[in-house]
Amino acid sequence: MARRYRQARWDEPLLSELSRKGRAGFLPPTDPKIEAWKGARQILPADLRSTELRLPELAELQVLRHFNRLSQMNFSVESGTYPLGSCTMKYNPKVSEYIAGSPGMKEVHPLQSEATIQGLLGIFYDLSAMLSEITGMDSFSLTPAAGAQGEFAGVLMIRKYLRDQGKDKDEILVPDSAHGTNPASAAMAGFKVVKVPSDERGLVSLDQVEKLVSPRTAGMMLTVPNTLGLFESDVGPVARAIHDAGGLMYYDGANMNALLGKARPGDMGFDVVHLNLHKTFATPHGGGGPGAGPVGVGETLRDYLPVPVVRKNGEAYSLDYKVPKSIGRLKGSYANSAILLRAYCYIRLLGAGGLDNVSSLAVVAANYLLSKLDPQAYALLQGKGLRRKHEAIVSVRSTMSGGAMKVAKGLLDYGVHSPTVYFPLTVEEALMIEPTESETLEALDEYADLLNELHGKLQRGGLEDEPKNTSVGRIDEAKASHPLSLKVKW
Ligand SMILES: *Cc1c(COP(=O)(O)O)cnc(C)c1O
Repeated sequence: MARRYRQARWDEPLLSELSRKGRAGFLPPTDPKIEAWKGARQILPADLRSTELRLPELAELQVLRHFNRLSQMNFSVESGTYPLGSCTMKYNPKVSEYIAGSPGMKEVHPLQSEATIQGLLGIFYDLSAMLSEITGMDSFSLTPAAGAQGEFAGVLMIRKYLRDQGKDKDEILVPDSAHGTNPASAAMAGFKVVKVPSDERGLVSLDQVEKLVSPRTAGMMLTVPNTLGLFESDVGPVARAIHDAGGLMYYDGANMNALLGKARPGDMGFDVVHLNLHKTFATPHGGGGPGAGPVGVGETLRDYLPVPVVRKNGEAYSLDYKVPKSIGRLKGSYANSAILLRAYCYIRLLGAGGLDNVSSLAVVAANYLLSKLDPQAYALLQGKGLRRKHEAIVSVRSTMSGGAMKVAKGLLDYGVHSPTVYFPLTVEEALMIEPTESETLEALDEYADLLNELHGKLQRGGLEDEPKNTSVGRIDEAKASHPLSLKVKW
């Protein structure tokens, strides 16, 4: 940890280049497409309100205090350490916010003519090329709005491709350690999910895959490194076994933070991947959105990408809606463009060397934190002796029940966020810790010390009703998620 992660910095030449591209995106006063759209959406007189809206009368200062107080009740990576495993809660550099918020970028209308957004389309074209290079894939569609939507697009492409080949295949292999969205996406695309049990190393083994693969196998979804933070060392032979059965390999790229600049799914034998720009590429997320889950494919699936795909013809950029065998459209507008812009800035500002440094530091940080934990208190159940990648899962060993939850709640009183708890389901009393490259050595030390200290409290029968210092105390989780009332009272 001697070398610190090179933060994305203010970079004048890049800012002026982007501002030039953005200016090309200002809305022209009379864009026929937008005028037509407005015309079609006239509010009927009968639907217009006839009485004035009763708005509360408040002074500016009152409003300011209200929102300021609300913002302080929130927790973000800007408040404290936030090692929420699998979610990659890294710092989102302010320079990207500045660019995504500049008028030429944010005031673009989804229906604006392509001729007026050439700068922005150029950025998206370059972003697709950069993601292809990073993952070793042939081409990308940036349209999916989340990792889960990228997965859904990916398995739909596999289905359509196999049908076009006249192959009747309906099973997708998914390891038991996979994120819940994997089996959900496969099931939504009409596949039967075949669960692959992890072995004692916490990995998918070739033996196990060979037992489950059959002529019905349409493909396999694999996360590398997996959700235990372990590199799937059998990935090459597993990919060959699936290909030999006529199936395709899907790469869940949500854990790409561990491999940036080090290894590429395309080289490992994957046919289709999604990336979570809101995780690996430093764009804000949380609370369910927004995000972006671009989907990339090898040559086999090139013609199946969801539309639109950004193309370059000579000097002009366009949105291609006529990809020959496309699975179609996933969402109303092109993509979550502000997220794409931030990811683009992040990649440009760090460069290839910077991205490589990100994954090195993310992996070192996770292993360092792990090495500081008391192994009697926080045990590694699977993959003993295997090096973790960017995240690690420990099991809270305690004579007290519900240890993971109690430690997690206890942490909140110290101005830090808890790790992910009780995931994956294959590890009991699991804490899934992912510090990311953003944290300093001091922050990692502090977090490990806190965890060790809280375990002592747990063993002494404490941590029964923490947190006590947060704006909301311990909540009844079942009640909070079930009889939820979202009514707004005026
Ligand atoms: C986050 C995550 C997903 C789903 O991504 P969303 O953007 O939340 O839809 C899928 N797989 C893994 C391993 C993840 O961590």
